Amino acid sequence: MKKLKTHIYKVDEQTADEVWQAAGDILRKGGLVAFPTETVYGLGANALDEKASAKIYAAKGRPSDNPLIVHIADAHMMDTLARDIPDAAWKLADRFWPGPLTMILKKKAIVPDGTTGGLDTVAIRMPSHPAALKLIQVSGVCIAAPSANTSGRPSPTRAEHVMEDMDGKIDMILDGGEVGIGIESTIVDLTGDVPMILRPGYITKEMLSQAIGAVDTDPAILDENKDENFRPKAPGMKYKHYAPKGDLTLVEGPERKVVEKIRKLTADRLADGCRVGIIATQETQKDYDQGLVISIGSRHDEGEIIHNLYHILREMDRLQVDVIYSESFSEGARGQAIMNRLLKAAGHQVIYV
Ligand code: AMP
Ligand code: MG
Repeated sequence: MKKLKTHIYKVDEQTADEVWQAAGDILRKGGLVAFPTETVYGLGANALDEKASAKIYAAKGRPSDNPLIVHIADAHMMDTLARDIPDAAWKLADRFWPGPLTMILKKKAIVPDGTTGGLDTVAIRMPSHPAALKLIQVSGVCIAAPSANTSGRPSPTRAEHVMEDMDGKIDMILDGGEVGIGIESTIVDLTGDVPMILRPGYITKEMLSQAIGAVDTDPAILDENKDENFRPKAPGMKYKHYAPKGDLTLVEGPERKVVEKIRKLTADRLADGCRVGIIATQETQKDYDQGLVISIGSRHDEGEIIHNLYHILREMDRLQVDVIYSESFSEGARGQAIMNRLLKAAGHQVIYV
């Protein structure tokens, strides 16, 4: 791949018009622009230009059967991209857009197969981050954007993370600072009889049910379901994902037992000559006296844990640890969303105590 010069610009309310125009130009001409959203940084291209979306796959090293989410700045754009839109979709758009919810709908012919991985459906989201909305508006294109990381690495929540993975591979990075939420959108499929969550996220099943009634969760993404024959309905959910370079293991159980186990494992690995990282909480941080300890936040603040998750996985890479032990976070309303990412990052290595 030809090396590109990647231009970086800070974006906020003061950003000059020329910067927005330049970013819009790149997208209209089929180039790639990374930009902040409220969930994670996205790697954007014109969703209706097959050649442009192909560049996303090349820059990320993303498998071509893993479809892209199309970002819009106005709910009515759904009509341009999708057909047979059920009432539930309009209700969800009304309730949660702009915001961290992606809907799967039947696609219209205008959406190229290259954007949907050959599927007859399209994933659509209206983000709430002002820079994302502005970019869609000034460019005048629907923006296909997966997370702006190299496939398999933790998703980027800061422009520096995007630089690490994408420098020289894309035309521009818009730096909007740290994102607000920190994990990817909830994905709900509205093409079946009962709406189905294909990826858990900040918007919970309970929140969706309050708006539209019964909602299912794809059985293949629930951790209990390790049957190989269950294939997740979102193609991307089957891939190894979010993985730090060190070997990550989760330890699950009552807090005191978890701390004791991680202390013991850490002592053993250190004796083997390994560099050991520990993902602790504000409450337990002081209980670890060996290893490189990072607090992910308070166990009582799910939002904080979600916000710090990917940055900490990248920090562990920076610290060049060989092994990482992490506490588990399955209890709260968003426990499923957190554990879905951590379990993938750990390649499902869990020790129950
Ligand atoms: P990313 O944008 O990197 O967070 O990944 C997008 C996610 O959306 C992946 O898990 C895809 O498999 C999923 N996705 C995108 N389009 C569709 C679709 N038409 N049907 C099911 N899942 C989809
Ligand atoms: Mg991704």
